[in-house]
Amino acid sequence: MRRSRPDNAPEALRQSLVELLTNFAEELRKSDLRAKVIALVPAFHKLRDLGSSLIPKDEASSARERVIAYFRRYPRTVINGDELMVVSGIAEWARRVRELRVQFGWLIYSGMTFKDMAEDATAAEDAEETASLEAALGIHPSKIKPDQYVLMREEQDRHAAHRWNVLNEVRRKKVSVTDKIIEYFRKNVGEEITGEELKYLAKDKKEWARRVRELRTQQGWPIVTKNSGRDDLAIGVYVLEEDRQTFEHDRTIPDAVRVAVLQRDGFKCVKCGWNRSMLSPDDPRKMLELHHVRHHKDKGENTVDNLITLCNVHHDEEHRHRKS
Ligand SMILES: [Zn+2]
Ligand SMILES: [Zn+2]
Repeated sequence: MRRSRPDNAPEALRQSLVELLTNFAEELRKSDLRAKVIALVPAFHKLRDLGSSLIPKDEASSARERVIAYFRRYPRTVINGDELMVVSGIAEWARRVRELRVQFGWLIYSGMTFKDMAEDATAAEDAEETASLEAALGIHPSKIKPDQYVLMREEQDRHAAHRWNVLNEVRRKKVSVTDKIIEYFRKNVGEEITGEELKYLAKDKKEWARRVRELRTQQGWPIVTKNSGRDDLAIGVYVLEEDRQTFEHDRTIPDAVRVAVLQRDGFKCVKCGWNRSMLSPDDPRKMLELHHVRHHKDKGENTVDNLITLCNVHHDEEHRHRKS
């Protein structure tokens, strides 16, 4: 049953709650259990109304709007589920959080997902990623509890509603988690995909974080993150920049080396000066790649000195010259 929230100011609600509880003292002294329960019901409703009155109606008129209004007041802050229960004024607040995330495109991370990311970063000895999660949150990601949430980005992703359909379609397939993840990425080239979507795709199996890492570092899919040279992205966002795998010899370059090379070259192709701000539909240049000056097979190493930044067009050209 939906009850509409009375238009009372919080103070009026507080006073009538106090009154209800005062009257309840008399009920408590009686022996009939059912009478006590029934007498307490209005106090429960009143308390809920008080919680949802804390955010004014003209700012947010539904439970879902109150939840996102609260998150937006405290971005990049760890919020307890219980706080959302108070401001939303409903028992099913967790469902509203899920809708805000997957259908409305708000980047709200749950403690569970952060834990998966932190465990994977630790297992892969990726200290950079762990440190950047910690810096963004002010708390080590592994210390976040499952029923805690963080709004990581203040802007809404308008494409999320469309992706939601694709996400469910791929999720139902009877293929491996890795196959689902790469298929979903390839259907959303250039889109900002969240760890929450990937976790959902993997049916909550925590291997999703490791699988993304493998696709990126072993299979050469250009999946970029904040820590691998795309500083403009929010933490916990992944983008497949182009629908192609990088040349075998250019894979497995550590992220720290990758970022150092990009920085040295000013995040642009050393041949033509192309950078991401020049991205346009009728230009074949789509992304920046790293290329070994001295090839791997000729003992070229993954060092800053042996790597240069090229756009995909000049990278292809370079390889046609070398026939490798
Ligand atoms: Zn170029
Ligand atoms: Zn190359």
